[in-house]
Amino acid sequence: MELTFLGTGAGATLGSSRFRSSILVASGAVGVLLDMGAGANLRLEDMGLTKSFQALFVTHTHLDHFNGLPDHLVLRKITAMPKLFVASPPGLGPVLSAMKAAGNDIEVELLEADLPRSSLGDVEVWSVPGCHSIYSVAYVVDDGKKRLLYSGDTREPCEPILRELKGVDLVVHESSCLEDCSRWGHTSVQEALNFFSGKRLVLTHIPSQIVKEAEQLVGGKAIIARDGLMIRM
Ligand SMILES: [Zn+2]
Ligand SMILES: [Zn+2]
Repeated sequence: MELTFLGTGAGATLGSSRFRSSILVASGAVGVLLDMGAGANLRLEDMGLTKSFQALFVTHTHLDHFNGLPDHLVLRKITAMPKLFVASPPGLGPVLSAMKAAGNDIEVELLEADLPRSSLGDVEVWSVPGCHSIYSVAYVVDDGKKRLLYSGDTREPCEPILRELKGVDLVVHESSCLEDCSRWGHTSVQEALNFFSGKRLVLTHIPSQIVKEAEQLVGGKAIIARDGLMIRM
């Protein structure tokens, strides 16, 4: 299983050095996207990866996690690509319908569920509830060889996520601040280090302005993701 980080920034990120949340997970011929924030569609185009995935799993309906999707759907239509399978907690459908009603020729095969799950070839994807300011899920991706846990946006400790840790080879977790942002439903760099100390850990969803201090705090204990980073599991 191979991960490509397409967007690793968070709400207050400035400019284009860090686009919004998105990770491409590839296993053999199967490709899934976890979230597709603003700019992820551009990163895919720049990296020649627009045809590398068949499904998108959205963690929640905050804009920084799906705002790259509408532009990508237009590209799919223009270039006659197959319809994209999109799984999301409830709420995404009405947004896409409104965009379509406003004159945009976009189509998806949409699954809205409280706990979205699906399988593509040998790759199983399932979800557990997160602990965020709106309803959100975390995703587990398992290709029969390796298992990835992606937190989406959540504060920690979040029991459903922590319960899922057994058997996970790599945790990709949000880190929206340095010390404490739990009142906004987010996790700090320090908390992520504390709660996932025994695991191989990659931090993402990082505002650009805290990156230097985050690197100091992390030392060698985790990887701080940047756009374009590739990790083989
Ligand atoms: Zn959010
Ligand atoms: Zn977010």
